[in-house]
Amino acid sequence: MKKDDCIFCKLANGDIPTNTIYEDDDFRVFLDAAPATKGHCLIVPKEHFDNLEQLDDETAAKVFPLARKMMKLLKEKLSWDGFNVMQNNGTVAGQTVFHFHTHLIPRYKDDGQDFNMKPSEPAEGELEAVLKEIVS
Ligand code: 5GP
Ligand code: ZN
Repeated sequence: MKKDDCIFCKLANGDIPTNTIYEDDDFRVFLDAAPATKGHCLIVPKEHFDNLEQLDDETAAKVFPLARKMMKLLKEKLSWDGFNVMQNNGTVAGQTVFHFHTHLIPRYKDDGQDFNMKPSEPAEGELEAVLKEIVS
């Protein structure tokens, strides 16, 4: 189902033209309008889902094979040195467009980007406590 007030519904379904590198029955892959690096693009399903939690299993199962296909295309055309696949859910996690999408970000030596996590040092027993909270 499409959502009337959703920009990615319009882009994915071709209601608004966009810089498309790939399209099939389920997805459109287009260039991010504010690219982090050269070739930064987004895998966007034509159907509306707010986020990964809402995505159905059938569509979800198609995302990684498509990401791999696009990685290969971008390697061939842009010769990236590395690659980030990123997917944000919720405002605190950096999501700004609330239609599920996956970022494909080719990386180049000295591209000035940094998506690295900040590691922490857990206190004694902390990991075990979290484990118990999750698996119980
Ligand atoms: P998020 O922060 O939700 O994970 O990512 C949203 C992404 O969509 C951002 O990288 C942003 O630059 C991109 N974006 C937002 N609006 C548009 C648009 O109208 N066209 C395109 N091509 N990209 C957009
Ligand atoms: Zn949408």
